[in-house]
Amino acid sequence: MKLIYEGKAKRLYETDQANEVLIEFKDDATAFNGAKKASFASKGKINKTLSVLLYKMLEKEGVPTHFLRDEGDVTIVARRVDIVKIELVVRNVVAGSLAKRTGLPEGHKLRQPIIETYYKDDALGDPMVTDEHIRELNLARPDELEKIKRSGLKVNQILTKFFAKAGLILVDFKLEYGRLLPSMHNIVLADEITPDTCRLWDEKTGAKMDKDRFRQDLGDLIEGYNEILTRVQHALES
Ligand code: ADP
Ligand code: MG
Repeated sequence: MKLIYEGKAKRLYETDQANEVLIEFKDDATAFNGAKKASFASKGKINKTLSVLLYKMLEKEGVPTHFLRDEGDVTIVARRVDIVKIELVVRNVVAGSLAKRTGLPEGHKLRQPIIETYYKDDALGDPMVTDEHIRELNLARPDELEKIKRSGLKVNQILTKFFAKAGLILVDFKLEYGRLLPSMHNIVLADEITPDTCRLWDEKTGAKMDKDRFRQDLGDLIEGYNEILTRVQHALES
């Protein structure tokens, strides 16, 4: 299999179908733009499993995604897309850079969800960008950006409600979108939805169950990820 791209958390391979990719979830974790690195046995498998469950649920709720099928262990097959170089962050509760930027305390519940856009560029350190920066850099057409933001809010509604059923607060999360090849006319949700890309706090104790455990040395990362997976599986059954 030909490797197309190796990122921080996943590897992408070509398949015999030109418009498909194989995505392998790695055990590696990075934080602070790659400055902090570690590897956690079984993270790849947990993240793959969670991503698949969440993408299937979103598809059912009418959100088009890149997901095609689960290939077991740490791999999925997805539609190959031209990734929009924008990271869409949706926030419900103050944490991370929003606390720094605004002075609002961590844990402060936002009156309504906040959407932020970041330029997906490792060399620049993924800076926050405005609609006008996006227009100048030609990262997305205005109608594409509009679609992406609307979809992000819809995903937020679906996931917030779902995680609440699992006893988890969806604090914030990052989404990536892509243009379906070959026509590039349709935008779909791509990449991953995992505890690497979502902040999830225990509803009762406020304990951080996501990658902040690694960023802030808060204890066993895999314990948190496994707890999220178990609760998600129970919530799906109920
Ligand atoms: P990064 O270090 O850039 O975050 P990852 O380890 O997350 O990379 O690897 C996944 C890469 O593949 C990301 O750059 C993401 O934008 C891209 N990607 C995700 N889904 C698809 C897809 N369906 N088609 C093409 N590229 C994708
Ligand atoms: Mg990534």
